[in-house]
Amino acid sequence: MIPYGHQHIDERDIAAVTAVLRSDWLTQGPTIERFEEAVASRCGAPHAVATSSATAALHLSCRALDLGPGDILWTSPITFVASANCALYCGAQVDFVDIDPVTLSLSPAALEEKLKKAKIAGRLPKIVVAVHFAGEPCDMAAISALGQAYGFRIVEDASHALGARYGQEAVGAGTYADITVFSFHPVKIVTTGEGGMAVTRSSALREKLALLRSHGITRDPARLQSGETGAWYYEQQDLGYNYRMCDLQAALGCSQMDKLDGFLAARHRIASIYDRRLSDLAVTLPYRNPGNLSALHLYPIRLQLAELERDRKSVFEAFRARGIGVNVHYIPVHLQPYFRKMGFAPGDFPNAERYYQEALSLPIFPDLSDGDLDYVVGTAADIIR
Ligand SMILES: *Cc1c(COP(=O)(O)O)cnc(C)c1O
Repeated sequence: MIPYGHQHIDERDIAAVTAVLRSDWLTQGPTIERFEEAVASRCGAPHAVATSSATAALHLSCRALDLGPGDILWTSPITFVASANCALYCGAQVDFVDIDPVTLSLSPAALEEKLKKAKIAGRLPKIVVAVHFAGEPCDMAAISALGQAYGFRIVEDASHALGARYGQEAVGAGTYADITVFSFHPVKIVTTGEGGMAVTRSSALREKLALLRSHGITRDPARLQSGETGAWYYEQQDLGYNYRMCDLQAALGCSQMDKLDGFLAARHRIASIYDRRLSDLAVTLPYRNPGNLSALHLYPIRLQLAELERDRKSVFEAFRARGIGVNVHYIPVHLQPYFRKMGFAPGDFPNAERYYQEALSLPIFPDLSDGDLDYVVGTAADIIR
């Protein structure tokens, strides 16, 4: 089966991890800082905090921005559940803003509408999580202007968007968001096995993220509250977690970062072949803003079901039957049983629900061979007529 996404691991990655195994540090050693520095400098942001996953980084971001009971976080329904769950971990509520049917990201127009109503009702969100769906940056200038007007903070879920550019600026630079989160799960742009990172311009947020990542404990003499001294002495100052990344993972991350530009170029090459060779089929190809650079984590096509006279399930199964591991990104989060128990229901976010009926992610990853790519395109032409 040709998967929809797959990591690329080479001998240099293996050597980098092995070198850490032979060193004194398996966790919380110098390689973590090297990896944080590599990602931060790539983004043009001064601070980065590596974590055990993007889910952990999203949770820490909400905590660092003081999200708690009585607060609300808004995000897009077309995302992985973690973009919403981070609010629930903090005892806050979650709500969604429908997607733009063209860009497939949270719609700034729908956001503004919902903010107007929420302001009257006294239920404004504290945080909006903007998800760069498929690696294409959302309209951050518009979302950030609304953040100024309505007083919410912004977390970018850039799990799909490492290496992407919004206009001329790297995603993560922090002009439009308080914190940007990346994922290093194997299907994402670069991998550490499991892993994530929170990137920020704010040194105060960096301190909070780092404190909460490691149990809320500090050993920094400048930060101790009690005045007690001694090399053994540490203080727990908040309720944190063990959300640390280990040095084995960070070594893989450093080695993967060296290949980031090559990974992006390979994804763009595949996408441009799909763009060209699928353009005659009964599908809508994924949106890309020519002013941005997408990281192209996914290549989600939309089936024109009325023309095809079949449903997405039958198209999906036809691809799978021919050994192509197409996938669906995503089941709208508000339709998950856990969220329905909170009162969400079909019809709440019609653009997201319509997109879900039509969505199909084709394989895209750096090691997809020309032969396999050709096979996917040919099979698509057979199935989607
Ligand atoms: C993968 C992903 C996450 C979670 O990442 P983990 O590193 O697996 O925790 C969160 N949000 C989005 C949009 C993702 O795609």
